[in-house]
Amino acid sequence: MKRGKVTIDRERCKGCYLCVRSCPFKVLEADTVMAPSGVYPSVFAHPEKCTACTSCYQMCPDAAITVFELEEGEQ
Ligand code: SF4
Ligand code: SF4
Repeated sequence: MKRGKVTIDRERCKGCYLCVRSCPFKVLEADTVMAPSGVYPSVFAHPEKCTACTSCYQMCPDAAITVFELEEGEQ
Protein backbone atom coordinates (compact mmCIF):
# COMPACT_ATOMS: atom_id res chain seq x y z
CA MET A 1 0.00 0.00 0.00
CA LYS A 2 1.14 3.56 -0.71
CA ARG A 3 2.32 5.70 2.15
CA GLY A 4 1.75 9.41 2.47
CA LYS A 5 2.68 12.51 4.35
CA VAL A 6 0.29 15.41 4.92
CA THR A 7 1.10 18.96 5.83
CA ILE A 8 -1.53 21.37 7.10
CA ASP A 9 -1.13 25.14 6.88
CA ARG A 10 -2.07 26.27 10.38
CA GLU A 11 -2.73 29.82 9.22
CA ARG A 12 -5.16 28.77 6.50
CA CYS A 13 -6.98 26.08 8.47
CA LYS A 14 -10.26 27.28 9.96
CA GLY A 15 -10.93 24.18 12.04
CA CYS A 16 -13.93 22.82 10.14
CA TYR A 17 -12.58 19.23 10.44
CA LEU A 18 -14.02 18.11 7.11
CA CYS A 19 -10.61 16.55 6.53
CA VAL A 20 -10.72 14.71 9.84
CA ARG A 21 -14.10 13.23 8.93
CA SER A 22 -13.10 12.42 5.37
CA CYS A 23 -10.00 10.38 6.22
CA PRO A 24 -10.80 6.67 5.91
CA PHE A 25 -7.94 5.77 8.25
CA LYS A 26 -8.47 8.34 11.03
CA VAL A 27 -5.06 9.88 10.46
CA LEU A 28 -6.03 13.47 11.23
CA GLU A 29 -7.20 14.98 14.53
CA ALA A 30 -7.98 18.38 15.98
CA ASP A 31 -4.89 19.89 17.60
CA THR A 32 -4.88 20.67 21.31
CA VAL A 33 -2.78 23.77 20.63
CA MET A 34 -4.56 26.87 19.34
CA ALA A 35 -3.24 28.64 16.23
CA PRO A 36 -2.74 32.44 16.28
CA SER A 37 -6.04 32.73 14.39
CA GLY A 38 -7.87 31.33 17.41
CA VAL A 39 -8.81 27.95 15.92
CA TYR A 40 -7.53 24.48 16.70
CA PRO A 41 -6.18 23.31 13.34
CA SER A 42 -6.25 19.72 12.26
CA VAL A 43 -2.96 17.86 12.65
CA PHE A 44 -1.28 14.87 11.03
CA ALA A 45 -1.65 12.78 14.16
CA HIS A 46 -1.09 9.22 12.91
CA PRO A 47 1.42 9.38 10.05
CA GLU A 48 1.93 5.61 9.99
CA LYS A 49 -1.66 5.12 8.78
CA CYS A 50 -1.63 7.57 5.86
CA THR A 51 -1.95 6.07 2.37
CA ALA A 52 -1.75 9.33 0.39
CA CYS A 53 -5.34 8.81 -0.78
CA THR A 54 -5.85 12.62 -0.98
CA SER A 55 -9.37 12.50 0.43
CA CYS A 56 -8.48 15.13 3.04
CA TYR A 57 -6.92 17.36 0.40
CA GLN A 58 -10.00 17.17 -1.79
CA MET A 59 -12.35 18.01 1.09
CA CYS A 60 -10.51 21.03 2.42
CA PRO A 61 -12.39 24.21 1.43
CA ASP A 62 -9.41 26.41 2.28
CA ALA A 63 -6.58 24.70 0.40
CA ALA A 64 -4.73 24.21 3.67
CA ILE A 65 -3.67 20.62 2.98
CA THR A 66 -0.81 19.23 0.91
CA VAL A 67 -0.38 15.49 0.40
CA PHE A 68 2.95 13.92 -0.52
CA GLU A 69 3.37 10.34 -1.65
CA LEU A 70 6.39 8.77 0.05
CA GLU A 71 8.89 6.46 -1.58
CA GLU A 72 9.84 3.21 0.10
CA GLY A 73 11.83 3.94 3.27
CA GLU A 74 11.13 7.68 3.17
CA GLN A 75 9.82 9.40 6.32
S1 SF4 B 1 -4.13 11.43 2.41
FE1 SF4 B 1 -5.85 10.01 2.86
S2 SF4 B 1 -5.04 8.64 4.45
FE2 SF4 B 1 -3.68 10.44 4.39
S3 SF4 B 1 -4.52 11.82 5.95
FE3 SF4 B 1 -5.43 12.41 3.96
S4 SF4 B 1 -7.40 11.29 3.89
FE4 SF4 B 1 -6.13 10.33 5.47
S1 SF4 C 1 -10.68 20.72 5.98
FE1 SF4 C 1 -9.06 22.28 5.78
S2 SF4 C 1 -9.84 24.04 6.92
FE2 SF4 C 1 -11.08 22.26 7.54
S3 SF4 C 1 -10.00 21.47 9.38
FE3 SF4 C 1 -9.17 20.37 7.61
S4 SF4 C 1 -7.31 21.55 7.02
FE4 SF4 C 1 -8.58 22.85 8.33
